[in-house]
Amino acid sequence: MTTPLLGTSFIGHSRATGTEACGFGIQPGTGTSLEPAYHSATPEEVEKAMALAAAAFPAYSALSGKLRAGLLRAIATEIEGAVEDIVERGLLETGLPEARLRGETGRTTGQLRMFASQIEEGSWVDARIERADPDRKPIPKVDLRSMLRPLGPVAVFCASNFPLAFSVAGGDTASALAAGCPVVVIAHAAHPGVAEIVANAVIRAAHATGMPEGIFSVLYGGGRKVGQAVVKHPVTQAVGFTGSRSGGTALMAAANSRPQPIPVYAEMSSVNPVVILPGALDRGEEALAEAFFGSLTLGVGQFCTNPGLVFLPAEKGGAFLTKLKSLVEAGTPGMMLNASICQSYADSTAAFAATPGVETLARSANQAGPGQGAPAVFVVSIGDFLKHEALQGEMFGPATLIVRGSLGEIEAVIPKLEGQLTASIHATTEELAAQASLVQALQGRAGRLIFNGFPTGVEVCSSMVHGGPFPATSDGRSTSVGTMAIYRFCRPVAWQSFPDAALPAELQDANPLGIRRMDPAVPA
Ligand code: NAP
Repeated sequence: MTTPLLGTSFIGHSRATGTEACGFGIQPGTGTSLEPAYHSATPEEVEKAMALAAAAFPAYSALSGKLRAGLLRAIATEIEGAVEDIVERGLLETGLPEARLRGETGRTTGQLRMFASQIEEGSWVDARIERADPDRKPIPKVDLRSMLRPLGPVAVFCASNFPLAFSVAGGDTASALAAGCPVVVIAHAAHPGVAEIVANAVIRAAHATGMPEGIFSVLYGGGRKVGQAVVKHPVTQAVGFTGSRSGGTALMAAANSRPQPIPVYAEMSSVNPVVILPGALDRGEEALAEAFFGSLTLGVGQFCTNPGLVFLPAEKGGAFLTKLKSLVEAGTPGMMLNASICQSYADSTAAFAATPGVETLARSANQAGPGQGAPAVFVVSIGDFLKHEALQGEMFGPATLIVRGSLGEIEAVIPKLEGQLTASIHATTEELAAQASLVQALQGRAGRLIFNGFPTGVEVCSSMVHGGPFPATSDGRSTSVGTMAIYRFCRPVAWQSFPDAALPAELQDANPLGIRRMDPAVPA
């Protein structure tokens, strides 16, 4: 390890001195504690991190997009420089394989650079200009110009299942820093060491680019204790979260109970329905089963986009089920992220198996070792599916529920589903055209529609929507992946009758930044 791990929070540029131990990194499978012990931020240290964030906000939010982009690029470079440490520690504390850790590091640095490019270019602020018209009748028109401005300090909760891309310097942090918001991160107990390595990289980048102290802090001590205090703190203006439905809804309640309620962008629970139409089965049931199994078991099923619910025509699909059964039976158990996720996978699959009407089509014949999860597939009729609301719940791991019914029944059930991150449809193009109302119903329930594909593998780009109606997310108008994620941490501000020189550069007459603007005086 190039920089020794200290096991303490980052309060702006300083390290905390809190001495209350809150746990160790734990090696999945063996349960071995990994040095060092981690220590909770004290209430005074939380207060100090919040005060620093509040103090940093005016200066940081006033920096140009180019300067903030410099910070994001410097963070990416520092993380790349720490990749060997990330892999060494990540292998020990996350159960993830090396290729995944390296790949996720690349995704994280790619996200940082994507937001850097977005704010360097600058048009994202949605500048709108309406010039004054003193001669307008019956009343003169005032000069009115608007653009997006950052909200203020943002609390970011690290996710257990993405120790890099949705954690300390992940998408929530990158988009909040890009918008001009200081960030206070709540580390996840499942990967405290990786969090510390990445936090060190961010602090080095903040120093190197001359950023005001307080734009970034990382607190240990968990969500229930330290995280709740940060969410309730008056300085905090928004929350980014990826995790369980119970955690996300608890944070929504905390944010709403404040004297000033604030937005919570929580990505929580999605089973990502896959609808298979007869034409897709006619193309080759076995090949479809193989492709589905690949998506189901990717990352031991621990993705928010895991396909946990399939609608299959009742009268067809025998070969699909036979093939899937054989794949699942031969399926290899994989190490899960931590003991608690492994236990909740065992509990949820057992609960599905015990639900009246649910048949266990297949479980892996290979014995799962300690900390491992093995593939499983269950089948139920659409009638029994509708009788048991719990069957809409998430089995976080490589398990899926196949629901069989007529096409009419399937279409009728879609509007009754909870909100989803994704919905997939497998069909011929002719079927797709003929089933417009089914597609419309899926659109009403999900943030991303997929044709003849599977939901795992989330492209990070400007048109990605990784969001959806509750409980997929707390606010279906947002995405936590892609450049649109920046809009979660801004609000529109209008300037009325301000002199040109007193306006932000984005709104000045000469358009000194050369950005795209909505300006009727300038032809597009
Ligand atoms: P989690 O229990 O929601 O924990 C995530 C973070 O939220 C942790 O820092 C946790 O702090 C905090 N938290 C939880 N409950 C809280 C509360 N009432 N108030 C304040 N903070 C709270 O999620 P997890 O440990 O990562 O995984 C548990 C389950 O969540 C999984 O088995 C899976 O079902 C689901 N999950 C879903 C996704 C998804 O993308 N859909 C991703 C990850 C996990 P503490 O350490 O104090 O608990």
